Amino acid sequence: KTHNLADIDIAQAADIKHINEVAAKLALSEDDLEHYGKYKAKLPLSLLDKDKVERSNLILVTAMTPTPAGEGKTTTSIGLSEGLNKIGKKTTVVLREPSLGPVFGIKGGAAGGGYAQVIPMEDINLHFTGDFSAVEKANNLLSALIDNNIQSKTHNLNIDPRTIAWKRVMDMNDRSLRQITIGLGGTTNGIPREDGFNITPASEVMAILCMAENFSDLKERLGNIFVGYTFDKKPIYARDLKAENAMAILLKDAIKPNLVQTLEGNPAVIHGGPFANIAQGTNTVIATKMGMSLSEYVVTEAGFGADLGAEKFFDIKCASAGLKPKAVVLVATIRALRHHGGAKKEEYNTPSTDRVKEGYANLGKHIENLQKFGFNPVVAINAFPSDTEEEIDLIKKKCAGQGVHAVVARGWAQGGEGMTELAEAVVSTIESYQNDFHPLYDWNAPIREKIEIIAKEIYGADQVEFSKKAKLQMMRIEKLGFSHLPICMAKTQKSLSDNEFRYGRPQNFVVNVREFEYATGAGFIIPILGQMMRMPGLPAVPASEGMSINDEGVISGLS
Ligand code: ADP
Ligand code: MG
Repeated sequence: KTHNLADIDIAQAADIKHINEVAAKLALSEDDLEHYGKYKAKLPLSLLDKDKVERSNLILVTAMTPTPAGEGKTTTSIGLSEGLNKIGKKTTVVLREPSLGPVFGIKGGAAGGGYAQVIPMEDINLHFTGDFSAVEKANNLLSALIDNNIQSKTHNLNIDPRTIAWKRVMDMNDRSLRQITIGLGGTTNGIPREDGFNITPASEVMAILCMAENFSDLKERLGNIFVGYTFDKKPIYARDLKAENAMAILLKDAIKPNLVQTLEGNPAVIHGGPFANIAQGTNTVIATKMGMSLSEYVVTEAGFGADLGAEKFFDIKCASAGLKPKAVVLVATIRALRHHGGAKKEEYNTPSTDRVKEGYANLGKHIENLQKFGFNPVVAINAFPSDTEEEIDLIKKKCAGQGVHAVVARGWAQGGEGMTELAEAVVSTIESYQNDFHPLYDWNAPIREKIEIIAKEIYGADQVEFSKKAKLQMMRIEKLGFSHLPICMAKTQKSLSDNEFRYGRPQNFVVNVREFEYATGAGFIIPILGQMMRMPGLPAVPASEGMSINDEGVISGLS
């Protein structure tokens, strides 16, 4: 049983419940909620419960190295949550908020697909409850404070404008704002300097919101943001501009997780949205703990392939927040396996056991990697119409050879009904204690060693080379006293290596660290491997061209 309906048509046809009914499944009353209309509510932080977090079962959904379309982690996460609820396990899916850049650009929204979606889909993909706007305002307040200080005669901190690392942000793909000059127009209009815009999910404020445990932690992290240097080379942090309280005020509601529902009326918590290539790529710590405070099982997702999203989820988020995931689902698609086996884009839908056999090397490496964190993952083969029985059998056999169970997942086509087998398989790995999570490295190891561990163990590199600039910056980070921070690699999502054209399981390669950035507020060091985009551009034919809204306010063409 399958279909060819557009996501938005399925979402609009859904029998959406009042949010109070969804909350009732979490044993919450309407007084517990902060309503944003009938279908969305914020969950106050007072609902967090440490003991329940201890007892809840956290499941991470990650993926093999994806094709640009995405292999269906969000869809599988939502579908798995429906499947778990169907087999009687009280489950909440906890996800990131979509960014408007991809919505109007190329990738589309991030509310799942087919019969595995979260609703109201339009709201979630658009302004939702305003969290992204709040992040943007908090970020830009700091920018305004910096420029105001440079202009100031009485409170001047002597900031050297050429060293300012902090940029303005906006949630839109707009390449013309990458590098700009500000402060033009004479003495009353500020001091001219170079600046630029990043997209909101690339903002350190977003990363901070997602790492923070509570308001005091949020304020401390905001205060720790590195701004730049003075003319006499002293570091300046946001706290030197007394920015952290005002920034936290702007985030007073954004810090609270958002409750919505899945197509089958099960609870979904959607909160925060940092990118996974340059930031940590998972929803907020508070949202994950909120889900765990309110239900027996929580399914969550980490962006891109397991080399990026899952590694950061384990080594940064779980290590920081003291979370102990109980199971991992590794999403694979046959089209991605064909791709890693050498199929061109036009051949993604052409069955080929040879290509799948060849491409399995990529999936196999991700399985090995997850085993290094103490997991025996369950592989979810996200089903597409062009999949053949032979290809599926081949994957199942290969997985079995690595001691791993592979299950066909049909959440997109069938919703929870098509996900019960995966749900049973996941519960069985949890109930038989097959998993014992541990992070890959010790935060206190030297920076170079931490990077080498990730590059060698996870990417499969022989060696790591640091540019001259990177070596200098590494010394600077040590001098600033941040070498104990975990590593948040900025690497292409298209390959296990740092070369986007090397698919499959790359071997005999050297990883090159070109430079470093440091998110001292969020609390991680960012080695940059290759070119990283913090402000994407729109494609020649943006998705926006296919969208419309009618006289009744009904939207079409959103995907
Ligand atoms: P990810 O979270 O891994 O980036 P998504 O779950 O967002 O991937 O899926 C990417 C796109 O692929 C979405 O538009 C979704 O509707 C579509 N999709 C996912 N799974 C399937 C499937 N089994 N069949 C058809 N389309 C799918
Ligand atoms: Mg996703």
